[in-house]
Amino acid sequence: MNAPGDFLPFSRPTLSESAIQEVEDCLRSGWITTGPRVERFEGALKDYLFAPHALALSSATAGLHLGLLAMELRPGDEVITTPLTFVATANTIVEAGATPIFVDVDPGTLNLDVGRVGAAITERTRVLMPVHFAGLPVDQDALYALAGRHGLRVLEDAAHAIGSEHRGRRIGSFGDTQVFSFHPNKNMTTGEGGCLTTSDAGLAAVVERLRFHGIERKDLGTAARATRAPYDVSAPGFKCNMMDLQAALGLHQLKDLDGFIARRTALAERYLERLEGWPQLRLPRTPSYSHRHSWHLFTPVLEVERAGMDRDGFIAAMKARGIGIGVHYPAVHVFRFYQERFGYRLGALPEAERIGERIVSLPLFPTMTDADQDRVIAAMREAFN
Ligand SMILES: *Cc1c(COP(=O)(O)O)cnc(C)c1O
Repeated sequence: MNAPGDFLPFSRPTLSESAIQEVEDCLRSGWITTGPRVERFEGALKDYLFAPHALALSSATAGLHLGLLAMELRPGDEVITTPLTFVATANTIVEAGATPIFVDVDPGTLNLDVGRVGAAITERTRVLMPVHFAGLPVDQDALYALAGRHGLRVLEDAAHAIGSEHRGRRIGSFGDTQVFSFHPNKNMTTGEGGCLTTSDAGLAAVVERLRFHGIERKDLGTAARATRAPYDVSAPGFKCNMMDLQAALGLHQLKDLDGFIARRTALAERYLERLEGWPQLRLPRTPSYSHRHSWHLFTPVLEVERAGMDRDGFIAAMKARGIGIGVHYPAVHVFRFYQERFGYRLGALPEAERIGERIVSLPLFPTMTDADQDRVIAAMREAFN
């Protein structure tokens, strides 16, 4: 795939000829926006995820936003989340009118440290919003036990976790509400896109209305019935529907997903084997509960003192050797808005801050060859010497 000397990106989507053909068929069909392909894609998602309800959306960000809106948060309500995530997670909490409460991460798994969540729960807490970091499920037993004890909702940011499993159960098939991303860097893509799954039929109905202008075709109000309007609106909605053009890709990506995850897993295991014991890196660790990791990212943390360089230095050294390195993620609570609005300060969440300054994403995607990976490892060995 990559001749030596070619630039190796940290991520690249894998699009089959049949996916590309389906997009062409969609374009020629005369129906481009939300229609039969979205309906089929939602059915396929429900089947794959064993999800009671699945709604295709324009992005995961839209799913998090609409999911939180459907949970009817009031100003002052608190949502507990991780600071080691893409900023969309926290932004949607603010957009839904609530206050994000960040709890530090476990430095081994990089997931929200569920053991610390209890201490952050107050009488204002309404929702727990974990991220299954890199596709590694959080400790769902402990998380849902806490939520049950305190009467809290759970919105899982599963942007990384399509295909992930916790103790034999697929993320999306159990619990409260989950949101998956189909951004091109994620494990499967629809260009841009996302999906919300939930066990709550009422929440699904609200999100279904909110994703398309607030339009309802059933339960018409008296005015709508009197004027013979074909639909009614009981609250203003948004414009977050998925297009058939996107679903055309998604239908084929979903068929290929288990193969993608198998290849990602093989590459991740190869990284773990070959990088074990390197003093310059702290490798990601997996927990003892049984799980299926979807390996969206492979994210060692640089031991900058032993590496003799900081992250910028490492990224530049790898770029000079033709290799792209990603950064997922700088800690969210140190961004200016979160400091100014919510008073977060450096030092508040030491694990996430230390990791956020040192974490790197090594190249990992299904069409990456063993030879590509050997090139990454050789470049790292050179960079550190
Ligand atoms: C990618 C990502 C999102 C946002 O997904 P979009 O589909 O781009 O909106 C949210 N949370 C996490 C953790 C992500 O990685």
